[in-house]
Amino acid sequence: VDSDPVLTLGTVFTGARLITCNQQLEVLEETDLRIEGDQITGIGRELAKPGDSIVSARGLWITPGFIQTHTHLVQTLFRDLADDLPLLDWLRTRIWPFEAAHTPQSTYASARLGITELLSGGTTAILDMASVHHTSEIFKAASEAGIRLWCGKAQMDRPNEAGLSEDFESSMQSACSLAEHWHQKTPLLHYAFAPRFVPSCTDALLIAVREEARKRGCLIHTHSSENLDEVELVRAITGTDNVIHLDRLGLSGPDVALAHCIHLTPEEEDLLARTQTRLLHCPGSNFKLASGLARIPELLKKGVHISLGADGAPCNNRLDIFAELRLAALMQKPRLGATALPAADVLKMATQKGAEVLQLAAGQLAVGKKADLVLLDPKKLWTGGDPRSALVYTMDPRCVRETWVAGCCCYRDGEVPGWSSEETARLCKEGLDEVRNS
Ligand SMILES: [Zn+2]
Repeated sequence: VDSDPVLTLGTVFTGARLITCNQQLEVLEETDLRIEGDQITGIGRELAKPGDSIVSARGLWITPGFIQTHTHLVQTLFRDLADDLPLLDWLRTRIWPFEAAHTPQSTYASARLGITELLSGGTTAILDMASVHHTSEIFKAASEAGIRLWCGKAQMDRPNEAGLSEDFESSMQSACSLAEHWHQKTPLLHYAFAPRFVPSCTDALLIAVREEARKRGCLIHTHSSENLDEVELVRAITGTDNVIHLDRLGLSGPDVALAHCIHLTPEEEDLLARTQTRLLHCPGSNFKLASGLARIPELLKKGVHISLGADGAPCNNRLDIFAELRLAALMQKPRLGATALPAADVLKMATQKGAEVLQLAAGQLAVGKKADLVLLDPKKLWTGGDPRSALVYTMDPRCVRETWVAGCCCYRDGEVPGWSSEETARLCKEGLDEVRNS
């Protein structure tokens, strides 16, 4: 009996150089990659099935989508408005008052601006901390663009100079209702509880966050030990060190992600390694706020789990993973020598390690992993050398031609499909005017 062949809806990228970012960081030359639905379904040659679209990728490189495990989309609008200040002044005189003045429209504009920049630089998944209000606007913008988002409202129940804090009940109630509404609403959206940092949170709040997050299978995302004044403040409030305090309240383990961790005691370093609590390293932000140099090579040696992020735009001021890769490697070398933190280790932080934080089957080009991909045009910054080094030291977002998330193209030809950059700029201008006039 004759029957029509079953038509599939796959896409095959042919003849590319694949930088797999797998365990051995293999590079495959002139290889095809097939995706179907939201997954990678083949790597090799002649993979096309009837009905597949064929995309010639000859001369291009394909990498897994980059993963940033610490961002603040809500702050993108405030870039170049909070420069040259140390952390606590930066928060008290600029960031908290700005966040307090956000409207739903300005929050949406800020997220849209940030997501556009992330996708244009090949970032496909982020762990993001919102502000206290209007968190749904971040989810709304992410779902329009198609980026993978883990996000939660910043929870703060100690008095705050900018009036940004809430009481315990309001904070927990609104966090839980956001989690109820957004967590896994689509395969791309996830709620992650986000107590801001120890000086903003009572013990009761941190304990309640732990209970609610674990009950719902959500990640917990906070800041720790970023700055020496903050470490002193935490000691004054709690009588102990940041990471120890969090651990005593049950906030440690693979579902707990701590941004920065620059100023740790040896006991805290061992605790992170033993509990596999995630450390989110933000080199650009650490330089700009003069927060310090995280001891990344020493921590890796101890077995601490480390991934990368740009942090918020006002302390970076870019959201460019290539800049973070480069800075992460460079910042260790004056202290420890040129062999410290080689490119391969840094590249893993922005791919495999980031995926592990999110408990996501991504961060590598391999069959069964998510179809989150970046198509790079190496002609923009031509190199005849090691492509893994090129990603860390040489390339930048100019090389990004397309960004795919879950099998869909979310960035091409300088635009996020469905969003015009003129409209984004208009929304940002209006949003910033609203914030400044409020
Ligand atoms: Zn941060």
